[in-house]
Amino acid sequence: MARVSGRSCIVTGAARGIGRAIAEALLDEGADVCFADIDGDLVARTAQDNADRARRGGGKVTHAVVDVTRRAEVRAMIDHAVAAFGKLDVKFNNAGVNKPMNFLDVTEENWRFIMEVNGLGCLIGMQEAAQQFIRQGTPGKIINTASVASRQGFDNVAPYCASKWGVVSLTQSGARDLARHDITVTGFAPGVVATEMWEQVDQDLVAIGAAAQPGQAMQDFSAGILRGRVATPQDITGTTTFLASKDSDYMTGQIVMIDGGMVLV
Ligand code: NAD
Repeated sequence: MARVSGRSCIVTGAARGIGRAIAEALLDEGADVCFADIDGDLVARTAQDNADRARRGGGKVTHAVVDVTRRAEVRAMIDHAVAAFGKLDVKFNNAGVNKPMNFLDVTEENWRFIMEVNGLGCLIGMQEAAQQFIRQGTPGKIINTASVASRQGFDNVAPYCASKWGVVSLTQSGARDLARHDITVTGFAPGVVATEMWEQVDQDLVAIGAAAQPGQAMQDFSAGILRGRVATPQDITGTTTFLASKDSDYMTGQIVMIDGGMVLV
């Protein structure tokens, strides 16, 4: 079953991790996909590695180098995808960062860095995608990456939690504001996903004295997950392709939890 055949999609943070998996799953089901990331070398390689996958799926692949906090770069990324694919149908705002600090040590610099990428980057991505859908006169889908940290405050990652609660607010506000343009806004909330972000978080938690040894934080979290393990990026993509497909057309303003039963809200 090809749920997204012929759909033109952009995924940010697609050089690796969850974004890469989202983009690859879209290619598997026939979409045209622009892999976008701030890491120019890696995103070029990732897109190149997916040339065969795109051929098999019947879609096209391209890539763009973008800092999601810079509006001009976001516009250029969208222009690039539209030039390559003829239009834009689906925009994933997935790029995100984390940098754990004990609550009392959180600095303005830490707060601004995380809020800028996860909060402002999401807002700019939503606005510029919506402007493109409106220019085209077509319906559009915006899909934001939230987190279990959008539903519960966790220790040692307060700015990250604040930023991801912000993603929920942007999803709800955007859904209300953009409905009249036939644009839906949804999001999904992973729990603990084994990616390089988590490897770094794990090391940072040890460095700030919040975990005794590498791997411990991941293990502690796993113990509270009903499915009994952390997620792989591929655990996320059945849902993300659904959100990009027509099957989700009647959904807007909602966040889908994909956390193996970690936070029950
Ligand atoms: P990752 O660090 O493996 O990948 C993130 C990608 O985003 C990287 O390729 C990075 O270069 C890119 N990026 C960072 N800043 C950027 C910027 N300013 N502009 C463009 N690209 C930028 O992380 P991941 O685990 O794949 O996380 C992806 C998303 O999922 C993030 O929003 C993250 O907060 C969220 N998330 C992750 C987990 C998890 O457990 N891994 C859980 C919940 C939510």
